[in-house]
Amino acid sequence: FGALQREDPEIAQVLLDEVDRVRGGLQLIASENFTSPAVLAALGSTLTNKYAEGYPGRRYYGGCEVVDRAERLAVRRATTLFGADHANVQPHSGASANLAAYAALLQPGDTMLAMALPHGGHLTHGSKVNFSGRWFDVVSYGVRRDTELIDYDEVRDLARRRRPKLIVCGATAYPRLIDFGIFRGIADEVGAWLMADVAHTIGLMAAGTIPSAVPYADVVTFTTHKALRGPRGGGILCTAELAAKVDRAVFPFVQGGPLMHAIAAKAVAFGEAMRPEFADYGRRVVENARTLCEALEGMRPVSGGTDTHLALIDLRALGVTGAEAERRCAAAGITLNRNAIPYDPEPPAITSGLRVGTPCVTTQGMGVEELREVGTLVSRAVRYPETADEVRERVSELVAKHQPYLSEL
Ligand code: PLP
Repeated sequence: FGALQREDPEIAQVLLDEVDRVRGGLQLIASENFTSPAVLAALGSTLTNKYAEGYPGRRYYGGCEVVDRAERLAVRRATTLFGADHANVQPHSGASANLAAYAALLQPGDTMLAMALPHGGHLTHGSKVNFSGRWFDVVSYGVRRDTELIDYDEVRDLARRRRPKLIVCGATAYPRLIDFGIFRGIADEVGAWLMADVAHTIGLMAAGTIPSAVPYADVVTFTTHKALRGPRGGGILCTAELAAKVDRAVFPFVQGGPLMHAIAAKAVAFGEAMRPEFADYGRRVVENARTLCEALEGMRPVSGGTDTHLALIDLRALGVTGAEAERRCAAAGITLNRNAIPYDPEPPAITSGLRVGTPCVTTQGMGVEELREVGTLVSRAVRYPETADEVRERVSELVAKHQPYLSEL
């Protein structure tokens, strides 16, 4: 860091300010986490210099024998951790992993069935503004109005009528467990591939907190930077049958040179997730999310609660939009994001909901007692914006006792 400060003080200052920002408030964005110093060390390493197109032992560049060891370790740890036949650790992100998975299984114009964005699906699950919606014939399913749970009858019905080549399950803003067994049954009935995009929940699967998608799906795509607590990046797990197709889809179809520093950091994160402490982390993340849900006075958790690391909060009873609530929380030192709720009457840029998650605060060492208070603070910030200064002060006291990155930078 000293070298950066000497060479480029402006960027050095950005890094310092970002640490200050994080230290100064509560981070409740469900898709974020605080990586370990070991992961950061691998990311900021000379492995970023190496070109290594191809796969270990089959590269298109010389001098790859050292970085090959990092990728082999990452693959071996991922397959062991998740009990998968095969792992590809090269996708630069969750979106790249999904693009590669589609490329492995579909041709442009093929029909795929996936969860609608306004009901919790991801952009890459068929949104018109994304490659998935542009290049494939997308049929969308959603959640039921009464239960706000995935409507498996609708999924089955759509699958029977539209005969998709691929069914995608997994979501960005769905607080409940997904029944991968039901999806497998539907996929088998109509002869479709089943892909689980568990970008959000792979960390909880690694920890053994929630059931894994691996035994059910042909292909599992994921990100490494959310509850899994690794570097920003993606990955794919698949059956032995699809291994060669998936590898060819990642490289050379979608990507060029892999990010070897990120792959080394993924290996570190997989290694950390194999330790018993990580099982405890996963359990505490969910316990904290449940506590937070219960403590959000006057706000309704969509579907009545959560089984995971995140909750979706319906603000309509308060007469406050998601955008306004996000602003009010920011003023009180609480970072979270507005989010559409199912059947949201407001447009996507405004929304009627908030999404909150506990991976960050759990990594910081907060437990149920703190999360009860966090719920009260979020609730006060949203309902009584005039108390923003008081809330901010209490937030500062709380995070002062649970600092991420105290001495690492
Ligand atoms: N899939 C799902 C379900 C996600 O929630 C996300 C990110 O939020 C992605 C894919 C995309 O990941 P990335 O932002 O790394 O491209």
